[in-house]
Amino acid sequence: MRIGIVSDIHANLEALEAVLAVLRGRGADHFANCGDIVGYGPDPGPCIDIVRGLHGWVVAGNHDYAVLGRTSAAGFNSAAGAAIAWTRKQLTANQQLFLRGLPLTSCCTPLVLVHGSPAAPAAWEYVFTLHDAEAQMDCYSESVCVVGHSHYPFAVERTAGRPARLITERSWELRPDAKYFVNAGSVGQPRDGDPRASCLLYDDRVRRMELLRVEYDVAAVQRKIRSAGLPEFLAVRLASGR
Ligand code: ZN
Repeated sequence: MRIGIVSDIHANLEALEAVLAVLRGRGADHFANCGDIVGYGPDPGPCIDIVRGLHGWVVAGNHDYAVLGRTSAAGFNSAAGAAIAWTRKQLTANQQLFLRGLPLTSCCTPLVLVHGSPAAPAAWEYVFTLHDAEAQMDCYSESVCVVGHSHYPFAVERTAGRPARLITERSWELRPDAKYFVNAGSVGQPRDGDPRASCLLYDDRVRRMELLRVEYDVAAVQRKIRSAGLPEFLAVRLASGR
């Protein structure tokens, strides 16, 4: 089994299609998703339909719940809040029903998926640092916790009896005696300064995880954001990955 892992698609259809093409080309036959299918971007409905059609493991993100009114959007910045209000008007009843059915955590051994943090999945916490990640690593029993939410891809390994370390390799083998905390980054709105879409590929046969970056047609998405009347900031930031 090869699992393509995506997160934070944020209604960016061009990025999602590009990522799925690369993952399928690399042999992905199952898919996992760490939430925030919608919000910010111009194609929430088509992105939901594609994710639903993958029949994979999917958890909810705070934007998915905010569109439904299940999480307050009060803490969102003005561009994010405007996009939530706009997204609400775009979705069919069936698409809303799909979002409503998403759990906060999902397990596809050896992976556990959650949007923010395994310690408090409904609190939408951000985990940015090695120290923060290490504090999360006693909160799940599976070997690997995969998250999204921050839009910064990174990975941490903790082997018994040793301090946790940041993984700097793009591809690494999961050690049987170690635990991992991995952020998949964002498909649709990367914020680490690299505008390419981010995703993971996990090969179960050889226990190897790989972080991938994929180019897509940023200008096409920017045109859609502008013609939808969404905030200009949401178009501009895609080009810089910030
Ligand atoms: Zn997000």
